[in-house]
Formats: sequence, C-alpha cells, structure tokens
Amino acid sequence: MGGDAASRADASLGHQTLSPDASLTADEGLVPTSAAGLTYPWGERAPGAGEAIRIAPSVRWVRIPMPGSLGHINSWLLDDEGGVAAVDTGLMLTPCSDAWKALFEGDLADTAITRVICTHLHPDHIGLAGWLVKRFEAPLYMTRGEWLTARFMIADVREEPPAEVSAMQRGAGWDEEAIERARAQGWSRFGRMVFRLPYGYRRLIDGQRLDIGGHDWRVVVGSGHSPEHACLLNEADGVLISGDQVLPRISSNVSMSSSEPDGDPLGEWLASIDKLLTLPDDLIVCPAHGEPFRGLHVRLKALRDEHHDRLDALATALAEEPRRATDCFPLLFRRTIGPDHIGLATGETLAHLRQLEVTGRVRRETQDGVWWWGAV
Ligand SMILES: [Zn+2]
Repeated sequence: MGGDAASRADASLGHQTLSPDASLTADEGLVPTSAAGLTYPWGERAPGAGEAIRIAPSVRWVRIPMPGSLGHINSWLLDDEGGVAAVDTGLMLTPCSDAWKALFEGDLADTAITRVICTHLHPDHIGLAGWLVKRFEAPLYMTRGEWLTARFMIADVREEPPAEVSAMQRGAGWDEEAIERARAQGWSRFGRMVFRLPYGYRRLIDGQRLDIGGHDWRVVVGSGHSPEHACLLNEADGVLISGDQVLPRISSNVSMSSSEPDGDPLGEWLASIDKLLTLPDDLIVCPAHGEPFRGLHVRLKALRDEHHDRLDALATALAEEPRRATDCFPLLFRRTIGPDHIGLATGETLAHLRQLEVTGRVRRETQDGVWWWGAV
C-alpha cells in the first residue's frame, strides 16, 4: 500500500488536537424533525475502533469519532478492484486520523483505499481526504460544485469576516455587540480542519454511473445543505449512501449563505426531497451521521412536511406584524438561541424567510440596514 507514501502523508498530518472550531462543521440544523416510522436493521450496533461492518454485498460501514454534538461521522467503504473506495473521511484531527490508522491495523489491514469519494465539502467529510489521497496515491472524486467551493473556502484566508457577513448579521437583527463578538472570532477557520487537498480531482456528475469493483453506483445530486451534494445509489444491492442529504435522527443544516444572498437554499432542499422521493422506498439508507436505516420515503416526507409547517407558521405570524429574522427564532426552534447557536439559527431562519419571499408569501423591507419581513 505504498509505505513511503504513507509516511510522507503522515509527516504532513501534524498533530491536530480537539479544538472548539471542530464543532463548527455545520452539518446539524436546529429545526426539530420527527424520525418516527424508521427502522434500524443493525439496531444499536455500530462499528468500534478498527472495525468495518458489512452491511451489503458491496458496502462496509466504519465510524470515525468526532468532537461536538455529532459525536461521529460514518464512512462507507465500497468494494473495489484492488481495495475499497472510501466515502467521507472525518476532520483533520488526531482522533479522526487515529481511527483510520486503527482500521489500517484492523479490518483494513492489507487493504488499499483505491479512491476517496466525498459527498460534499463540509470539513467532517473532506477533512482527511487529502491525507488518504496522499497515503494511498488514490484519486479524489467530488462534484464540481463541491470541489470548487471547497477550494474557494480553503483559499479565502483573511483576518476578519468580510463586510458582507456583518451586513447580513445586521440585516437579520443582530445587535452591534453580537456582530463584534463574531468579528472577534476571526475568519478562515474552514481550512484549519482540512488536510491539503490534491491539485486535481475526478468530477462526479448527477446521473453518472460509476463502476466500482464491478458494482454499479449511480450519482444522485441534491442541494440545499451544500451546493452539489452527491449521494450514491446501488440499486442491485438496494443501498443509498446519503451523506448529509438524508439523515435519520437530526435535521441537516439548511442555511442562507452570506456569499450567495439571493440564493434559495430551502427551495433547493425541498426540490431535492421531491427528487429523492423518486428513488425506491426499500433502500438501506447509509447516512453520514446516525445509523443505517430503512424508511427513506417516510423520512423525506417528514422533513418536507416539517419545513412546510414552519413556513406556514412563519407566514401566519408575519402577516400579523413584521419581524426581523432574530424575532422569528421562537417560531422555528424549540431551544432558546444563545450566542453559541445564533449563527446557525440565523442562517436557517433566513433560509425559511427567503423561501417565503421567493414564493411571494412575504415581503422584505430594509430600514437602516435591518430586514423586516412582513405581509405582501
Ligand atoms: Zn454537511
């Protein structure tokens, strides 16, 4: 498996301890959702250190521990000629790379990683992709939207948040103290959790079929959580690698981005749900967080309906009186939003408000840089 390449990769891994930034992976949203009606064929069982559990003729399941509320990310190993293709990787943190090293001495002993596939650009998914690529001299596969956005975010090194970020916070209703607190946290945290990516990549395209070790995998792209998220479908084995596009127990974060203020991420998310509902219902769904489950359609419909319920509640409240995004938190979230969650809560609230604006259900007025959302 290329001992020299492995030691070169390790040499540039460095020693990354747990950092508070590690919880900023932006995978988990705050919108509460129901997971009723799902079944978990493996129950409470989950892979331990160094262990890969076979869950389908072509797929094994491994777990990479993660700091923060997520606790772990799942990586899926697809049987390939000469080894396995690894889907998603964990953060560039020592506990994550140690988990891989335990696998290389455990169930993956003498098994090469033939390709690294990342469902999307979030650091817990691509954090160790560059390290695995380097260690195994394997190619990296991503969609172009995820690849380019990852490269852009890693390259965007600056001391302070861009002015557009503070303007969006002000627009959402943050006070100057909160804006200043965010500014003091600096910028450019993204690249610190991601091992240097290779210069080039192999492009995944929606609908494309990949032959991985004689198994047929189809790329199914969704959007809303990230720009061009790749899921992988193996119909013969009845398996969907869903990444963060479909999670069983937590809701995926769907947020307005300050770099795309006219975007409609929730509209894209809802359209992606409709698209995924065209897939067979009896698949084993392999998510990035949580356990493999059955009940794809139940889960998708629950996610869709809960967003619609919240959009309706927002529209009703805004018809009574105009509000800022921060005034809408109690309408969307069960938990109280403090300084730790205000960024995420704001992104998700703006995504809902923007979807209502795009569909003509509310109107936005700007007063002194603050957005007030009200009746049309
Ligand atoms: Zn994600």
